[in-house]
Amino acid sequence: MRFAVDEIPEEGMSFVVEIQKKDFAIDSDDCRLTRAVKVGGMLEKVSRDVYLSGLVETEVEVTCSRCLETFKQPVRSNMEAHFVPESNHAPERPEVELHAEDIDVEYYSGETIDLTQAVHDQILLALPATSLCREDCCGLCPQCGTNLNLGTCGCRDVDSDDPRLDILKTLKDKIK
Ligand SMILES: [Zn+2]
Ligand SMILES: [Zn+2]
Repeated sequence: MRFAVDEIPEEGMSFVVEIQKKDFAIDSDDCRLTRAVKVGGMLEKVSRDVYLSGLVETEVEVTCSRCLETFKQPVRSNMEAHFVPESNHAPERPEVELHAEDIDVEYYSGETIDLTQAVHDQILLALPATSLCREDCCGLCPQCGTNLNLGTCGCRDVDSDDPRLDILKTLKDKIK
C-alpha cells in the first residue's frame, strides 16, 4: 500500500486502508494470514520524513506449540514507523545507520512510501513467541501422541515418569 509523499499535508493525514493478504509473505504452515490487513492511523510529514502511527488489525492461523493443532488468532497491534528518503541513507552518515538499528526506520526511494513491509514486520512482532490454542492447553501425550485436550490415554498410569518411583526402584535393586 503506497502513499505519495507530496499528497501528505503538513498538518498530517488520517487514513484507513485494507491491504490484501497476498501482498504479504505470511503464508507458511506455522503462520498464515486468514484475511486482509486493516491499517488505520495518522501520517505526518516533517520535511521529507514521514511518521506513521496507527493500528494494525488482522487474523492469522497459527500452530499451537503444545498440541500442534492450528487455530485462529486475532492480531490487533499499535504500530509506529518512520519513513526516511533513501538520499539521507548515505554511507558518509554512519550515525544514521547506527540509529536505524534502534527504531523502525524504513528507507524509501522516489516519491512514495510503501507501508507493506512495516505492516508485515509489525504483524510478526505482535505474535507471541509461543502460540497456545488456549492458556491451559494440555498438549500431546509424550508417549502415544494423544491430544490430551480431546481425550485421555492410559499412558500415565502404566508407565509413570515420576522420579520418586525411579529412586524406589533403584533401592529395590540394591537390596537384591
Ligand atoms: Zn494447543
Ligand atoms: Zn498416552
